[in-house]
Amino acid sequence: MELEKLLYKYFGYQTFKAGQKEVISSVLAGNHTLAMLPTGTGKSLCYQLPGYCLDGQILIISPLLSLMQDQVEQLMKFGEKRVIALNSFLDSDKRGYVLRNLTKYKYIFVSPEMLSLPSIMKRLQALTISLFVVDEAHCISQWGYDFRPEYSKLGDFRKKLGNPLTLALTATATKKVREDIIKSLSLQNYHKIESTIDRPNIAFYVEEVPNYHDKQSRLIELVRKMQKPGIIYFSSKKIAEQIASLLAESGISRAMAYHGGLDQEQRILIQQQFIHGQLDVICATSAFGMGVNKENIRFIIHYHMPMQIESYLQEIGRAGRDGETSLAVLLYSPGDEQLPIQLAEGELPSEQQIDWLFSQFTPGIPLHHFLEANQYLREYGGFSEVQWRIIQDFIKNPLGASNQELLKQNLKEFVNERLKVKKDSVTFQKKWIKSKSCRRNLILEYFEEADINGKVKNCCDICGINLGQYQAAISDRTTPLTEKMWKDYLANMLLNSELSE
Ligand code: ADP
Repeated sequence: MELEKLLYKYFGYQTFKAGQKEVISSVLAGNHTLAMLPTGTGKSLCYQLPGYCLDGQILIISPLLSLMQDQVEQLMKFGEKRVIALNSFLDSDKRGYVLRNLTKYKYIFVSPEMLSLPSIMKRLQALTISLFVVDEAHCISQWGYDFRPEYSKLGDFRKKLGNPLTLALTATATKKVREDIIKSLSLQNYHKIESTIDRPNIAFYVEEVPNYHDKQSRLIELVRKMQKPGIIYFSSKKIAEQIASLLAESGISRAMAYHGGLDQEQRILIQQQFIHGQLDVICATSAFGMGVNKENIRFIIHYHMPMQIESYLQEIGRAGRDGETSLAVLLYSPGDEQLPIQLAEGELPSEQQIDWLFSQFTPGIPLHHFLEANQYLREYGGFSEVQWRIIQDFIKNPLGASNQELLKQNLKEFVNERLKVKKDSVTFQKKWIKSKSCRRNLILEYFEEADINGKVKNCCDICGINLGQYQAAISDRTTPLTEKMWKDYLANMLLNSELSE
């Protein structure tokens, strides 16, 4: 059957989004494929649709439990019931049942931790895996902004599964990272489909303000004038809350804060209100975005500098999905780069913490068992949740270290390298902010793409844009969220969570 017909039959869409058909055709022609498609372009469909053409199972490796859950729900919404996620959420009874009945599932999502369990690997080896999908494949590379040590074993896992046909998906990866993905997965012959990271309908606008006080007033002025809806990104939950209140006090009442500190129900409500046009502005942390498919977002403002340019691109990429002109504003005040550096340092354990932790270990006991049995060490050593996870992940995947001393050294080196990657990214962003040459070209150069050479009409503040064209004529239209829409939404959520149990 023609791919368009399958697309309509199983997903109800009339046309493919850019890049999807190329990726799917490449996979169906039996090519290992590396696909770099921007966030929101429908990467999941690139493995979902081949599932209806290929015999055997589609195995999807996904780094985050929340992402995995989203993807499971997405398939279920399309009416696909043969979906399962093998992760730590499965209790042992359910896991036993699922593992005995794995052939019943078409789409099997698995975390890398689960893949490293011999009992799981044995079951998977008994299947016919027609497609091995690595989602968020940039996590494989230590040059990637989100390197995960457990991802570095995926090449071995793939080999154990008989080197199945492979699809590696990512939204943003530099050339070096893409090369690492191929090497790490040992893909001999492969096709790559790399769409540009450029979004010509989004203009860049960087404004330097002398201090935080001025930044607040400039922000309010901009938000008041600009065409809405829009998102303002913050690195701090507290400041997101404060600015949302400040906006309300300034008469911009349809603004709310959204961050990981809110409970699930509140988050869903705010997200839905925004999607249905009841809210104009979201003051968000990076927790907001995944799963928000809203076409007409007109501006993204960064109040704080993001941790890395890749996150910046993903966040601004939420604007203008309808193809209309949109604006990405970054407000910079001197010293702003300290916050992402502090956040990066705070995510990683310090050398002193590592020394202390290793001094606590009892010789002869495998370290990961020791850590699991002595969770109190986390609190005693003042480790944050993220730092503790990094240590646990590393100790389970020690990148070749054979003894404790070597492991300690490797962990320190790993931490230092991670910090360097993150600091380099902040340095690049600072350079980008201070640059006097085209902002779009600089980003394209970073990702080793060809310059656009002045071909974009509303490019950036350096090339010259007229801010006036992004301003609202009069105030906005709204689509009220009716009670029925809300009830339908909740019923749908409930149904999906029941199905996924
Ligand atoms: P990504 O992983 O690239 O960020 P997703 O796979 O989550 O994106 O898809 C984003 C949204 O686009 C989803 O709601 C998905 O159902 C929708 N989508 C995917 N393909 C198409 C298409 N061909 N036409 C319309 N919508 C699509």
